[in-house]
Amino acid sequence: MKLTSIVTQLLLAPLALAAAAPKVNQKITYDGYKVFRISTHHDAAIVKDLLKPLTTVAMNLKDEEHLDVAIAPQDLDAFDALNLDAEVLHEDLGSDIKAESKFGTYGGVSARAVPSLTWWNSYHAYADHITFYNDLAGAFPNNSEIFNIGTSVQGRQIFGLHIWGSGGKGSKPAVYFHGTVHAREWISAKVVEYISYQLLTQYSTDLAVMAIVDKYDFYILPFVNPDGFVYSQTNDRLWRKNRQTRSGSSCVGTDINRNWPYKWSLTGGASTNKCSETYKGQAASDTPENAALVAFTTTLKNSHGIKLYIDWHSFGQYILLPYGYDCTQVAANNAQQTTLAIGLKTRIALSYGTQFTYGPSCSTLYKTTGSSADYMTDVALTEFAWTIELRPTGSSSSGFILPPAQILPSSIEQWEGMKYLLPIM
Ligand SMILES: [Zn+2]
Repeated sequence: MKLTSIVTQLLLAPLALAAAAPKVNQKITYDGYKVFRISTHHDAAIVKDLLKPLTTVAMNLKDEEHLDVAIAPQDLDAFDALNLDAEVLHEDLGSDIKAESKFGTYGGVSARAVPSLTWWNSYHAYADHITFYNDLAGAFPNNSEIFNIGTSVQGRQIFGLHIWGSGGKGSKPAVYFHGTVHAREWISAKVVEYISYQLLTQYSTDLAVMAIVDKYDFYILPFVNPDGFVYSQTNDRLWRKNRQTRSGSSCVGTDINRNWPYKWSLTGGASTNKCSETYKGQAASDTPENAALVAFTTTLKNSHGIKLYIDWHSFGQYILLPYGYDCTQVAANNAQQTTLAIGLKTRIALSYGTQFTYGPSCSTLYKTTGSSADYMTDVALTEFAWTIELRPTGSSSSGFILPPAQILPSSIEQWEGMKYLLPIM
């Protein structure tokens, strides 16, 4: 009983996040934080207990085998004294974040010109992403437009890019992408931008791409958690949730991907602790971002249906199929989904040898409740609803801080994967 309650408490409370939480509007630099991969020998709770007195930030959620933990500079000696089985992932997390955050400058392009591929040489500020999308849609007015589905907690538009082909706007089944629901997973925005860019720029010159664009309507929402993304750029590079406050708690943020109104009330796949990284909210869909996404998803379902949904995340290199809520459940068409996932994995590896793991979400990674792909599968009746966890692997690894030199290769290998997948679904 006691052990259970300790385990539960540890699972619900991210490692000493409160200790690392900044004062409002103060930027966390992570200067001097050293990141370790600590072997748990299948007992993460014991290791977490040992780390409790230290100022730490958890860097991974799947922690059966190891914990990736950033240790504050003042506690490095105390950490060494614990003599845990650990290897160093970042000597200085702050300096790696600084190197990653040398944003490219983007001045926009003249009317109807296409942005250049240099866009994928670096990360960019949120405002530049908006300019990029407006430029891209502006260059292809006959095949694309920007749309808005609603606003975030802080009033930002949740925008998307709609791409269509020869059948005309809104005439085909939907291919539907979400990016950056977890704010710190910056690579996901860059990858969906690359796919958007290739669909539009190759449409008139590449017959295979033309066939794809003519077959579907694409609805691509690169920032479904815009407030969190902005906060990850201005205040805390490791921010994950939205920026919603809750009465009775100083902890900010709900995990939008544990807030979907499907299997939300089940236990074990999300947290009821407002301070947790996987806090699911007070009620299903009680984040404005999720409510907007649900409403928009319903319109897609009721028009021509949703063929493929991908929620783009990082990291770990996984292709995750339904379901997240129960490790014994798979989708009715799981055999077909698995065949496609194997093909996708194979095609992704052709570009740079990058290896992805595939399988049902719960049994392959971890249990999630109130997550998007389960909702898409059972409520929105999406034929294939997947979560893709991008680079790096769980075992290298720079985690969420993916070096800019990997943005373009990450994007190219996914685009190659989409060119395989979309024609045969
Ligand atoms: Zn994520």
